[in-house]
Amino acid sequence: MFAAVAAFFLWAYPDHEQEDRYYSNQGHIFGTYYNIRYCAGKDLEKGILKTLKEFDNSLSTFNQKSTLSLINQNKSESTDKYFRQMYSKAQQVWQLSDGAFDITVAPLVNAWGFGFKNKEEVTAGLIDSLLQYVGMPKTSMEGELLKKTDPRIMLDASAIAKGQACDVVAEYLRKQGCKNLLVDIGGEVVLQGVNEKGEPWRVGITKPQDDLTGTHNEIQEIISSTSLSMATSGNYRQFYFDNGVRRSHTIDPRTGYPVNHSLLSATVIAENCMTADALATACMVLGKDSALSMISALPGTDCYLIYSSGDSIAILMTEGMKALTGK
Ligand code: ADP
Ligand code: MG
Repeated sequence: MFAAVAAFFLWAYPDHEQEDRYYSNQGHIFGTYYNIRYCAGKDLEKGILKTLKEFDNSLSTFNQKSTLSLINQNKSESTDKYFRQMYSKAQQVWQLSDGAFDITVAPLVNAWGFGFKNKEEVTAGLIDSLLQYVGMPKTSMEGELLKKTDPRIMLDASAIAKGQACDVVAEYLRKQGCKNLLVDIGGEVVLQGVNEKGEPWRVGITKPQDDLTGTHNEIQEIISSTSLSMATSGNYRQFYFDNGVRRSHTIDPRTGYPVNHSLLSATVIAENCMTADALATACMVLGKDSALSMISALPGTDCYLIYSSGDSIAILMTEGMKALTGK
């Protein structure tokens, strides 16, 4: 009888020797930080790094041999699963945002000095000529090959890849059996379950402040949740002044110029972090009113928009976000 009970416990708790505990892994990737916390039977950092490396080999513009870089250099048309996942989401958000979100924006991003190539002397003539080879419909997928209508077309996945990387790492952790996890890559977050104290995870929406160092983190709002994918896009960390004009790193691909309106940051919650990331950038291009209309029309998707109003800041949010923040 005793043996039977013991056997039952061994069967029911196969990991009984490895007590689950919370681990925390931090480091740098894609020019930003990552901070990953999870409850598991062992430290999973090696597997996380392997997953991030695989992702970097697909979509990084810093990595000259990535799938994306080879496509940009016209050395290959071949894609991989992360690329195709990204491309299909980029197409969807391009459509939803009336072309405000567009990964073919790369030549403009480079010209304005925020990309992987050096800043060019920007003139109206230059912008017009670059616009000839900017636009999502100038690219397509033929099977697993990425086709361009012009070899000068280049892709930039920076506005979607961080969120996608969060999804990929979260999926890896789930496959390892983790039920409680928080993945933060450069401020984009996927969380599930509870923290070490057994309470829902808490994440902050940062207060926008002019901050090129990325070290000021005053919290504007705290969200407490057991299941969330959230991304924030802001124009307060990446900008420069050009003859007194502030140039932000969000470019309107339809005009060719950096956006210049009152929206300071857009935080989006969606079904996954890749979607949230792309939509957050789309919001920054659209401006607060169109952004709110776009997000309000999407089921299960919410936003928190911080904009400047006179000398202070003001907030616009969807109904769902009001419920989450207790407003
Ligand atoms: P952050 O999290 O740093 O605020 P985003 O997710 O908004 O960043 O991505 C900003 C980056 O996306 C820019 O640096 C540029 O590389 C690229 N980008 C700029 N404008 C657009 C656009 N309209 N559509 C897609 N990507 C863009
Ligand atoms: Mg983004």
